[in-house]
Formats: sequence, C-alpha cells, structure tokens
Amino acid sequence: MKKPVSPIAIELLTRELAYQAKEQRESIVLRLHSAFLHLTEALQPLREMWQGSGAAAYQAAAECGWNPLQAKWLRAKRSVFNAELWGSVADTMRQGAQPGDETQSAEADEWVWWKGRLGGLPAITGIKLLPGTLPDAPHDFSHGAFGGGVTFAARLQEHRAAIFGLPALIANGDRQGIDDFLERVLPAMRPKLAREVLASHNRRMIDQLLAEQDSMLTWLAYMEMVFESVPPSLYAHLAGPGGATLMLELRLMLPLALLCSGPVIGHAIHEVANHLECFVEDEEDPSPLDAAVAEFAHLLVDFVRAANEVHELEELLSEARIEELDFPFVPRSDLRTRKAAIRRDKSCRACGSLEHRGHGVRMGTVAYE
Ligand SMILES: [Zn+2]
Repeated sequence: MKKPVSPIAIELLTRELAYQAKEQRESIVLRLHSAFLHLTEALQPLREMWQGSGAAAYQAAAECGWNPLQAKWLRAKRSVFNAELWGSVADTMRQGAQPGDETQSAEADEWVWWKGRLGGLPAITGIKLLPGTLPDAPHDFSHGAFGGGVTFAARLQEHRAAIFGLPALIANGDRQGIDDFLERVLPAMRPKLAREVLASHNRRMIDQLLAEQDSMLTWLAYMEMVFESVPPSLYAHLAGPGGATLMLELRLMLPLALLCSGPVIGHAIHEVANHLECFVEDEEDPSPLDAAVAEFAHLLVDFVRAANEVHELEELLSEARIEELDFPFVPRSDLRTRKAAIRRDKSCRACGSLEHRGHGVRMGTVAYE
C-alpha cells in the first residue's frame, strides 16, 4: 500500500488497522477460551478420579484405555505411573504459578491437578494390569503419538526441562534462547523434525510477533492453563505407560505450532487429533473418558487455528509499521501475570456478561475479507 499523504488518510488507515487488529485479537481469545471451557467441562470425570488417588487413577485410566489387547506392558509387572516424573512436572507447574496460589478453587475452569501434592503417592508396582476394554485398538501410543519411536521418547524425557522452558522463552521474546532451542535442542531430540521446523520458521514474521508479544502471550497462557488442567490420567488413557511421553510431545509440538508459520507442525497436530477422534466409540453418546478425549482432540485443532490467526495478525501489525502509524500496542506482560488475569476475568468472552462464562458454541472457521 502507498503511504497516505494527508493527515485524514493517515487517521483513517490507523483507525481501520487498529479496528482489524482488535477484532483479530478478540477472535483469538474467543477461540482459545471456548476450547478451554469445553475441555475443562469434559474433564470432570477424570478430575474426580484423580482427586481420590492420582497414581491409582492413572493406572485405571491406562487399563481401560486404548491399548492393543496384546500390549506387552499389560503382561509385564511394571509400574505404569512414574511418580518421580509427574512429581517433577507438578513442581515445574508450581514454579509457574502466582505466589501463594496453591489452593484448589471450586471453580470448574480453575481446577488444576498439580495443586494436590504428589509426594504421598505410593509407587504402584507388582499389580497385575488388565487388558484395555476396547478390543483391538489399532494403535500403540506407548512411545508417543507423533511417530518418533523409542529414541524420541527417551530424548523427550532427557530434555524435558528445555521443553518446559520453551513457552517462557517465547513469552519473553528471548530470540537467542529460541534459536538455541531450534538449532541445538530440537535436533538433539529429533533431527528430521528440527530441519522441517527450521524450514517452516519465518524469522521476520516471528520476530515481529515476539516484539508485539500480546497475542503470543495470550495463546501461551491458554496453552499452559490446558496443561495444568488436564490430569495425567487422560494421557494414560490414550497411551498406557507412554502417558508422560505423550504429554511431553504435546508440550513440545504446541509451542512449535506458534513458531512455525508453515504448515508442518499444524499438519502433524491435526493428524494426531484425527487419530484421537476416530477412536471415540460412540460419537453421539460417548463414554465420559471418550468425551474428554474428543474435546481434547477439538482443542488441539483450535490451538492450531488460533496459532494461524496469530500469524495473520502479524500482517496487520506489519502494515502499521511500514506506514509508521501511531498504533496502539498493548503493554508487555509475562506468562504468570497473563494467566492470572485470564483466571480472574469471570466475564463471558463473547458478550461481556457476568452471568455466564461462554455461549457453549465452538467457533468455526470464518474467512475474514
Ligand atoms: Zn455471553
């Protein structure tokens, strides 16, 4: 677009772009918030199971989950629940919480599994595991769902601190840290994926978004809230003893979707979501665990869509910069503060009402002109 000459033209363009950016930001929030509310509602049965005893809930969810009948781990006398690993995950989440925010709230969407101390959990060993209830589940996620196999699973565990640190690097706009992750950590875990990610990483676009920060921060805050609210037993239901691997994979793949403007990560996540959905037995009247899985699959797709919407926002911001417009940029914040703000805000994201939280309608894909 040519630089407008008159002050009125500049004023009009500024207003138009600011309006579009505001609409885009609101659309991103609405999508993420509605996905988050749907998921937390569907998680209710898993949440109740977890509250009794985390380790036993984990094992029960793995047993009645999507396991091939012949799964070797069912026959082996082994501990399915890795108390040490989930304990360290819980500690990491505790560090990211607001100081003093340790009590479990009664609000459905504020429920977070890690607030219950994991220290007292017994290590369940020697209990004979039973085959899953679904006959012949044709997949085996015991080494994760993204096809990386045993080696990738081991490396995810090895590099889990770096994986947990990635959202903060993005939220803080730490370009050097992000480069180090993409060029050193990711290749050490899975070289082919790392090459695809680097090829799909539009540096100029991502740098602009890191500078703007706001939309990426919101996206990451919702992502963190999702990982806080999903009890480990959901992953165990899907992946048996590989539950922790599946969680780590998703914690890696989701922020990469934000960093990749190309479709590579989005496609991989879509594929996993489709995989999850096609195992849901009765779509009309799913079992409570299946309903949680179906919502989780929807949520993954919504997060990919919202990441694309964040990328689209960059075009508007970039135009404002090129035209040197006096554009209303949102002040910088951090992940912890943004998460707390989202939890505090009890208004409906769609209409602002304080009577309800959302409209129960999942956003579709609207192509804006
Ligand atoms: Zn409303």
